[in-house]
Amino acid sequence: MIQAAISPVTVSKDEGLMSQNQISILWVRRDFRLANNAALVAAVKRGAVVPVFIRDASVDALGSAPKLRLEMAIGAFAEALEGLGSRLILRSGTAAEVLETLAAETGASAVFWNRLYDPRSVARDTDVKALLKDREIEAQSFAGALLFEPWTVETKTGGPYRVYTPYWNAVRGRDVAPCLTPPLEMSTAEDWPQSEALAEWELSRGMFRGAAVVRRHVSAGEHAALERLDEFTDTLIAKYKVDRDRLDIAATSELSDALSLGEISPAQCWHAGRRAMQEGAAGAEHFLKEVVWREFAWHLLWHYPHMDRENWRPEWDGFVWNDDANHPHFMAWCRGITGQPVVDAAMRELYVTGKMHNRARMIVASYLTKHMRMHWRLGLQWFADCLVDWDLASNAMGWQWVAGSGPDAAPYFRIYNPETQAQKFDPKGTYLARWLPDAFGDHSDASMSFYDAVPKAWKAYITDAPAEPLVSLTEGRAVALAAYETYKTQ
Ligand code: FAD
Repeated sequence: MIQAAISPVTVSKDEGLMSQNQISILWVRRDFRLANNAALVAAVKRGAVVPVFIRDASVDALGSAPKLRLEMAIGAFAEALEGLGSRLILRSGTAAEVLETLAAETGASAVFWNRLYDPRSVARDTDVKALLKDREIEAQSFAGALLFEPWTVETKTGGPYRVYTPYWNAVRGRDVAPCLTPPLEMSTAEDWPQSEALAEWELSRGMFRGAAVVRRHVSAGEHAALERLDEFTDTLIAKYKVDRDRLDIAATSELSDALSLGEISPAQCWHAGRRAMQEGAAGAEHFLKEVVWREFAWHLLWHYPHMDRENWRPEWDGFVWNDDANHPHFMAWCRGITGQPVVDAAMRELYVTGKMHNRARMIVASYLTKHMRMHWRLGLQWFADCLVDWDLASNAMGWQWVAGSGPDAAPYFRIYNPETQAQKFDPKGTYLARWLPDAFGDHSDASMSFYDAVPKAWKAYITDAPAEPLVSLTEGRAVALAAYETYKTQ
């Protein structure tokens, strides 16, 4: 039963439909949900709602897997709206132009949306708000993508937090508003405006044949996300703290893609986690802490808007990372043929499922930036192209955190050893066998589908001999440490 996420009612159907009866545009962005959607509630309260998703430059700039996942989210949300007698209008162009045109076509006198916090969206939304106000169209934005808006959390001296634990201590006792219930029906405009067709946008084209493979591993839509949260808080959360690092066990919530696209809100996860905590689930607080890592990432990106491009610690600017995307080491890393089994298994998991276990992300990021001394930006870009749960802030923070140039960093000289990591977190070799059919002979559908997912140009075949290690672990570590020592003393 899907109940975990939805608590007290704040707007009822009657309250919504009997109100002013004016037309509002709901500008859907990364908030593909009916529950706990403040912009949607505000629009429903006013009267008829015209929901629109705009394919603007920010959509075209997404990587291949995020685009595929977005396509799935749009499709699922359009269906959910249809269930309420509504529709999702699709339009291409700049947001300001599309919204202005749509308001003129429908007679809408207000546009509502939920806020995003990356610098490009903020700049766009500020311009859109100004333009709409200039045209005497009401424009209002709402919170919902985060538990705590970045500027609302400050140190005692008034600045941003730079380290996670004090940030967690600052927010852990805060009240998070109860979640808003979804509308039961939506009043609509008399004539629906024209919509473009989702299929014609071809958002999954960049994945080539990989799209069909990754799709099999994704459950899109609000309903699936709420079901997943319920399942997780009913069972897995109890052992989350002890099992969450295990590569061989499905012990985590697997909600990151749904959170990234707003199919579920962090507040729904927070309240479900708090309830589990009150019921005595041992791992619940740890789950809340992880949800707050995502908050911390957005807090950092808000205050350091170049975190996805520049070293968070500028003292790393002269370090000798290699940034050649055609370097054979980087290409082998991307293709899962470095000869380090756990690295290769994880990179294949990524290519087949569009996701990668968090522990594995840390191992492959450390291996790339330390044993191989390739620039973290290359890894970040590869993840941005391959992850269905791509999240600008979490990806940037994750890469810089592991590389040593980021916040709250494990020092550069703490280098993960892939072999000992695999022994610890995959003690029976289950994860390796799952993703490396060439080396371990476990020809499961999931592992074999790697050969269907990757571009033909890679010429990857099951008959290939398992890769030999490209970089010796001892030597890679020694060279990385020497480079660090030299840099430090310069
Ligand atoms: P759970 O363990 O169930 O955690 C619950 C939620 O908490 C997650 O869904 C996620 O929203 C949040 N969370 C958990 N761990 C982290 C973390 N370390 N940082 C930020 N948020 C966290 N996460 C993304 O969502 N998108 C990314 O693009 C991304 N890139 C990463 C890159 C690197 C190099 C690293 C080391 C981590 C990255 N992460 C990213 C964080 C983390 O790996 C994923 O959030 C996690 O694996 C998702 O699995 P889950 O939903 O089962 O998480």
